[in-house]
Amino acid sequence: METKTKHAFDTRVVHAGRDLSDRTGALVPPIHPAAAFARESLDAPPQYVYSRRGNPTRAALESAMAELHGARHCFAFGSGMGAVTAVAMLLKADDRVLLPDDVYSNTHRLFTHLTPNNRVRAEYIDMTAVANVERALAAEPTAMVWLESPTNPSMKVIDIAAVARAARARSVPVAVDNSYASPYFQRPLELGADIVVESTTKYLNGHDDIMGGAVFVNDPGLAERLALIQYVGGAVPSPFDCWLLLRGMKTLALRMERHQENALAIARFLESHPRVATVRYPGLPSDPGHEIARRQMHGYSGMIAFEMKDGAGAARRVVESSRLFQLAGGLGGVESLISYPAMGSGASQMGTAIAPSTSLVRLSVGIENKDDLIADLVQALRA
Ligand SMILES: *Cc1c(COP(=O)(O)O)cnc(C)c1O
Repeated sequence: METKTKHAFDTRVVHAGRDLSDRTGALVPPIHPAAAFARESLDAPPQYVYSRRGNPTRAALESAMAELHGARHCFAFGSGMGAVTAVAMLLKADDRVLLPDDVYSNTHRLFTHLTPNNRVRAEYIDMTAVANVERALAAEPTAMVWLESPTNPSMKVIDIAAVARAARARSVPVAVDNSYASPYFQRPLELGADIVVESTTKYLNGHDDIMGGAVFVNDPGLAERLALIQYVGGAVPSPFDCWLLLRGMKTLALRMERHQENALAIARFLESHPRVATVRYPGLPSDPGHEIARRQMHGYSGMIAFEMKDGAGAARRVVESSRLFQLAGGLGGVESLISYPAMGSGASQMGTAIAPSTSLVRLSVGIENKDDLIADLVQALRA
């Protein structure tokens, strides 16, 4: 598919996915719930055969999302983890994969408890220093480098272009989970990554009302294998969910600007609060990841992590005292959410590579009025 780059992102995101061959002139694509498609004869294969393999509503979504990442190919999945699992299926027995030591909890579970059944070996390293990645690549043959930036939940920033350069020197593909940034603020394919994953449940949909995932690649060989994994693995989204995601995506640019404006105001407020020990928000000049983030991101989204001076008790009181910020594990939607990663899905009986700090609080800042949001945190921090 051709990617159209003549318009700015905020224009393209509104028009992406429109089927110009549709004779009805419909401004939005229809929902095609059909599971199967009829053909004229055995020798005349139709454009669509069976919806697990391909569906017109899903195709409209995939074409729209591909355009946002400047990708040649996009594959939609029924959840972010469906997309992560599809990428993991590219690996084969005795392959070694490097991941960040604070990678998203369920990606960690996948690579610790499921892929070892296929003799895939995962190693967790601190990727905030590229030298650590270089050393690990030099030590042993590696089949894939997996990273996310900013990381969930601790908001560390990893230099995507530098990791991609180090990996490319050894012909190792790099996969980036971009869920915390969205394509509006970060496009890893442009930074040298080979594979991008999004949990579209998060910012791309933005309304906390569907689950979805997507994988983006340019390489035709990877695209061919991912098409087979999507078709045969079968973790595809429903046409209804594809349509909702197409609808939610149209406001991505507007929402991300507002998430960022609100989050920056809240990060500054938290930074000056006497009961808060540390704030991680890459948009803050004081953030250890700020310089790298400034180079590789176009903005900083709505995710904030902060630690309370008085430890676990204080952190728990904050998350249980906020009212506008609802206590819930999701992120990236229009409503503000607060969570306690040490007891959320981030903390597993199965363990994570590094457990989240018990004084850590995570915010997904929504698009409400920022004075109301700050007032809510003022009272929650008094609790
Ligand atoms: C939420 C999330 C996922 C998983 O996505 P689901 O849609 O919940 O399956 C993967 N990676 C990151 C960084 C996430 O935040």
